[in-house]
Amino acid sequence: MFLAVEKYGGTSVGSVERINAVADRIATARQRGESLVVVVSAMAGETNRLLDLATKVDPDALAREMDVLVSTGEQVTIALLSMALHKRGIDARSYTGGQVRILTDSIHGKARIRDIDAARVRTDLELNRVVVVAGFQGVDDDGNITTLGRGGSDTTAVAMAAALEADECRIFTDVDGVYTADPRIVPEARRLDQITVEEMLELASQGAKVLQTRSVEFAGKYHVPLRVLSSFEDGPGTLITHEASDMEQPLISGIAYNRDEAKVTIRGVPDQPGAASRIFGPISKAHLNIDMIIQNVAQDGTTDVTFTVNRDEYPEAMSLLNKTAKELNARDVVGDDTLAKIAIVGVGMRSHSGVAAMMFETLAAEGINIELISTSEIKISVGVNDKYLELAVRALHKAFGLDGEGTEEQLAEAKDS
Ligand code: ADP
Ligand code: ASP
Ligand code: MG
Repeated sequence: MFLAVEKYGGTSVGSVERINAVADRIATARQRGESLVVVVSAMAGETNRLLDLATKVDPDALAREMDVLVSTGEQVTIALLSMALHKRGIDARSYTGGQVRILTDSIHGKARIRDIDAARVRTDLELNRVVVVAGFQGVDDDGNITTLGRGGSDTTAVAMAAALEADECRIFTDVDGVYTADPRIVPEARRLDQITVEEMLELASQGAKVLQTRSVEFAGKYHVPLRVLSSFEDGPGTLITHEASDMEQPLISGIAYNRDEAKVTIRGVPDQPGAASRIFGPISKAHLNIDMIIQNVAQDGTTDVTFTVNRDEYPEAMSLLNKTAKELNARDVVGDDTLAKIAIVGVGMRSHSGVAAMMFETLAAEGINIELISTSEIKISVGVNDKYLELAVRALHKAFGLDGEGTEEQLAEAKDS
């Protein structure tokens, strides 16, 4: 039988009406003869509400208790959706992450899935039940509840699909697919019919929150057939493909941004072997996610090292770095937590060299100062002050012809160079 894993995000289950609409959708899929595992998020706003409550009690609450708290949001949704399915005469069973043995490491708040014991789910599917699973959560070896980081329900769904070798994983959300840029800030953005998994991985890791990065990693590693669709209207959505199509690829497939970045710099570090490892060791031990590392050419025997972190990890990064600076006898530590990151992504840039220059020209023409640059084979990412974010994304979207009009000449020029 055709097995689909469907995931419904917060807005898609944001009210009783929406939960009923999802139940109708599931009923229709059942009528098509599909077997279904459904992963759901907390109702819209609920995770933030829970986080706020915790902050009011103790801003430094233990991560373990935070996970016990925020995982409750998803538990509400699985119960309500199962009830809505029962009311439609559909046999359904709801399970928390721990109950379906989604085993993770113990890094509370951003745990990684290690293993899923799919036996229980398989038994229910054989009994023709719809299995409803709470997204975003798992348990560690000691049975502690863990959560997978914001947007983690996507990862639950794709990991479930991989473990069950599902025929398709459908991520239902509030947009009808993956767009050339976040349609919330670029009204001209267009839906992509398909995108390669490697491009999607770059877009997600650079901030396009339509899919959590880890979910795309899973899809790539286990070749999960993955599609992003709207839960509000029917349509083809966007297929995440595992091979680039034969058609000529556009230079740029999409633009991603992340508003919540910060940069820290340790200055005057004695330039000797081991300095970088002394700087990044403690950062990695604290599980801080860093990106964009820049080390200046040494002058007078000292050098500066800059890197970016998520804004909510900025205070911790600063304090760790201050400690390291003392140990290394570095001059000082400076930081800025008003950074935004913008990335252009496309497999088409592999074979063209003019893309970076065109990106920098476009930003220069808008008077936007670039603070950091980092590149990979299919991505160019810049750090700019966050006040320029919208302007930069819209200008780049237009310059690279993503609105679908106008800039043929520029593109041809970039392609020739
Ligand atoms: P859900 O609650 O369903 O998981 P999210 O809010 O996590 O939904 O993700 C969907 C949102 O992702 C969209 O509303 C959109 O604003 C944002 N988004 C960012 N970049 C993109 C993009 N390239 N394509 C589509 N949506 C994007
Ligand atoms: N409810 C969690 C969040 O808001 C997980 C998810 O929605 O994917 O981040
Ligand atoms: Mg999401």
